[in-house]
Amino acid sequence: MFCPKCGNEMPNGMTRCPNCGEIIEPRQSGGYYNDNRPEKPNNYLVWSILVTLFCCLPCGIVAIVYSASVDSAYYAGDYARAFSASKKAYTWMLVSLISGIVIYLATVLFYTVLGGAALMSSEALYDL
Ligand SMILES: [Zn+2]
Repeated sequence: MFCPKCGNEMPNGMTRCPNCGEIIEPRQSGGYYNDNRPEKPNNYLVWSILVTLFCCLPCGIVAIVYSASVDSAYYAGDYARAFSASKKAYTWMLVSLISGIVIYLATVLFYTVLGGAALMSSEALYDL
């Protein structure tokens, strides 16, 4: 391959031209990334927004940030980063979903116990 800046011939897979110091993008050299564009990884954006609204706000926001970076990394040609962001978005979406369910169950349990206690105390009043 040849340096796009100065035309100096350089070994394949090299990321920096030894002649002029120009940084060569790995995907242009074909050394690190496949030339075939892989399918865009799922960004889970809809799910991330849903869990942010209905489950756990802080975890959901982390999921949205990763979701957004899936698309930007993919269109920048950084497929490795797009796939890792996709995995992280999925993980945080799940974390948010699970903590949302746990919080929901804890709330239901709390009011059930509270309601049960209120019912018992009112029955206790009837006994008087
Ligand atoms: Zn050069």
